Order: sequence, then C-alpha cells, then structure tokens
Amino acid sequence: MVRKAARSQASLRAANKALVLQTVQRWGGLTQVELAAATGLSPASVSTIVRDLFAAGVVETATTTRNGRRAQLVTVSRRLGLAVGIQFGQRHVHVQLSDFALHPIAEHVLPLPHDHQVDTGLDRATLLMADLLERVGASFEDVAGVGVAVPAPVEAGTSTLSIEGVMPGWAGVDIAQTLSKRIGRPVYVDNDANLGALAESVLGAGRDLRDVVYLRASYGTAVGVALAGAIHRGYAGIAGEIGHVLVDPQGRMCRCGNRGCLDTVVGGAALVESVRPVLGPLTLRDVVQRANEGDPACTRVVADAGAQIGGVLAVVSLVVNPQVVLVGGELAETGEVFLGPLRERIGRRVPANNVAPLQVLPAELGPRAEVMGAMLLALQATDVSVPAVLDLPVEVS
Ligand SMILES: [Zn+2]
Repeated sequence: MVRKAARSQASLRAANKALVLQTVQRWGGLTQVELAAATGLSPASVSTIVRDLFAAGVVETATTTRNGRRAQLVTVSRRLGLAVGIQFGQRHVHVQLSDFALHPIAEHVLPLPHDHQVDTGLDRATLLMADLLERVGASFEDVAGVGVAVPAPVEAGTSTLSIEGVMPGWAGVDIAQTLSKRIGRPVYVDNDANLGALAESVLGAGRDLRDVVYLRASYGTAVGVALAGAIHRGYAGIAGEIGHVLVDPQGRMCRCGNRGCLDTVVGGAALVESVRPVLGPLTLRDVVQRANEGDPACTRVVADAGAQIGGVLAVVSLVVNPQVVLVGGELAETGEVFLGPLRERIGRRVPANNVAPLQVLPAELGPRAEVMGAMLLALQATDVSVPAVLDLPVEVS
C-alpha cells in the first residue's frame, strides 16, 4: 500500500514537472510567479519543481526583475543540446536548428528537383545540417534528435511510405534509419500534415483547444488530426490523406492509382494546369502570389479549390468533431480568397451544434509549422519533454 501510494504520488510529481517544463518551452522564459499562474500549481510546488529540474540539468535560472522586484527567470537548459527539424516538400528541403526551448537558431531552404530521389534529398539535408551547425559553432554531437516531415503518409514502425506512388523516389526506404546512419543521431519521421497539426496544437492557433484538425493545402492536400494533444495516425499512417478522397468519378488518374482523387482537382499540378491556357506556365507559388494581387484566373482557381476542399473537410468534421479546423499550406497564404469559400462550404454541410460551433481559422505558424512539428516530434521521442526523463529517484517513506 505504502509503495502504491508512493508510486502514484511520484507519477503526479512527474506529470507536474512535465507541465512546468512544457510551459517554459512554450513561453521561452518565465519567472516562478508567472509559472505558478500559467500552470495552476502553487508557488511552493513550482519552486520545488524548478529546483529539481535545475538539479537534473533540464532548466537554467537567472535573476531578473519584474515590476521592480527581483525574480527568478526560468529557461530551458542549453546543455540539453539542439533539435533539428527537416521538411521535405515536392520541390524543396527546409532545415531549422533550435534549442530545446524551440527558439530558432538557424535555418535554410534549398530547392530540390522535381520527383527527387531519396538519396538526393537526404544528401542535401545532411549537407545543409552540417553547414548550419558549423555556422553556429556546433557539430552533430550537439544534436539530441532530428525530426523529418515528408509529403506522404508514413508507417511509423518501419519509417517507410505507406502509399508509394505519391513519392516514387522514396519508396521502400526506411527514412529514419538511412538518415540516422549518415549523421549518427536519432531520427524520427512523420507525414507533414501530422507534424503541422502537432505544432499548431501545441504552439500555434490550437494551443488552448483540445481537438484540432489541421489542413495542409499545398502541392498535395492532407489533414492532421490532433486529439487531446496526440496525433491520430491510424494503423498504417494513412489517416488524414484526404487528397485521395474521390471527388470526380470520371476524372484524371491520380499517382496513388485511383481515378478522380481530390488532389487531381485541387493539387498544385491541377491548379497550375487550370490557369495555363490563360496565363501560360506558372508555379504554384506564382498562382498564390497572383491570387494575392487580384488576378481573376488565379483568384478563381484558388477559391474553387477552397470550396471543393471544404466539402471534404465537412465530412472529416462530422467524423472527428474537432473544435477547430486550422488552415495552413501555400493556399492558405491567399487568406480569405481560399478560406472564405472553404468556410462557407463547411458551414453549409456541417449541422450547427449548440455546444461549440465549429471554427475555421487560419493556422498561425505559417511555412514553419512542419519544421516546428518535426522538432516537437524529436523532442517528444528523445524523452526530454516527457516525464520519463524527469523521473528523479522516488523517495519511499
Ligand atoms: Zn489518389
């Protein structure tokens, strides 16, 4: 009995430590008084927890002033090392370094060839990481973990793509193992929409909400589903791949092998193709930019895509019942051009409920959502932000 009681007390203490650490990570630096207010813990508990975290090397403290009084400022320790987030897109790779409080330290984006191969992608990412680390006077040894976002569904157990046709050059390769061998550090891989959802639900527009659907509308279309802070990936990592929902039975063939998928109508290639007879060859970035400048053809295809995706999101919303749909990806950069028709279509197809009307809002982290999510994945996986690492010796009285 004594042991059991001691254990549950210890797990409560570990949970409170994790809460304090996550709060420091979210806000950067906080005084102990601010930490007590933000966590709802008593000032005495916060003081004990901060002392334990400091002894474990997880946080650092410094004297500061708040409202003219001396106060202890608590920040995440730099000794924990660096986190790296990598996002592979259809045409680029984005690498960001941060400390364990997720303060960005350095970042860079490199273009990738169309239909890039896994070797090319991982080579460029490795060079970019080495370059950024050198720039800040660090090396791979200082990296605690690397998170990788890819624009395709990933089977978590093997870290391979679970629908191969969408990224043929990466098929059948254990991405985490291959990259980890090159750099000698632990690597964790997930789908980009899942990682965008993770970042937005922890650090972005969904941070105070429980159930969040994050739409990533880019070259491909997918959602990430964050329920009570955890990503719902499904058995093979395919949950949220709405780009392959059938919307046009007579439509074009999709890379996944089916006909008339949402991506064949609203994906980057389809939007570029739609405006080509009027405007000539453009990239998706051009279409987004011209829609923002009021070009009628680009505005029209982006708005139509918003409505079409909204129809599919209405079904997702009925299945998942989120509090909010957060809208990210390149198309979201057109603001209400895309968001307006999307919101209107969802509104018409999801019955109003009298508990909490579904909100449709822009995501907050912009083009960094996926790399931030990749870093969070690495932090969670390397156990720095979870109670396990903070399990200090249990005192059994
Ligand atoms: Zn498809």
